[in-house]
Amino acid sequence: MKDKKEGKEEVCPKCGSPLGEIVETKSGKKLQRCSTGRWNPDTRQNEGCDYVKWFPVEPTTLDEKCPKCGAPLLMMVTRFGKKMKKCSTATWDPKTKTAGGCDYVEWIKGTSEPLEEDCPKCGSKLVLFTTASGKKLKKCSTATWDPKTREAGGCDFVEWQKS
Ligand SMILES: [Zn+2]
Ligand SMILES: [Zn+2]
Ligand SMILES: [Zn+2]
Repeated sequence: MKDKKEGKEEVCPKCGSPLGEIVETKSGKKLQRCSTGRWNPDTRQNEGCDYVKWFPVEPTTLDEKCPKCGAPLLMMVTRFGKKMKKCSTATWDPKTKTAGGCDYVEWIKGTSEPLEEDCPKCGSKLVLFTTASGKKLKKCSTATWDPKTREAGGCDFVEWQKS
């Protein structure tokens, strides 16, 4: 196998500076910033060049079989931190933009547990919701989400939990 990148340091496509070190986020995603770019935690803004290269998270093979075709399932993480299971026989052709193989996909949703706390907005009970990427938030038990219309209904109280 030949390494095409041999002897060449990767440079930022925006400004031509070398890229910084590869860092890993809390949710396990990897990214590489431009070495002239910097995240300022005080202003919560990027300073300098804002180029960020995201690395695809390696899918892990699960000890679970695809309900459609029986092939092993893979656990994937999107760059937005969403998790999904998909069939290991699935393929994607970036040239023709067509998917091949088995199309089984199962999105991993968060979990919610009821709380003994009342919503400050409407007085209903709150629930503690843990997202697929491990973030926690309290929300009103009357809140609904319609995936078809992509509209939220019910009470909109949300309180993110700092970890
Ligand atoms: Zn740059
Ligand atoms: Zn399958
Ligand atoms: Zn409420």
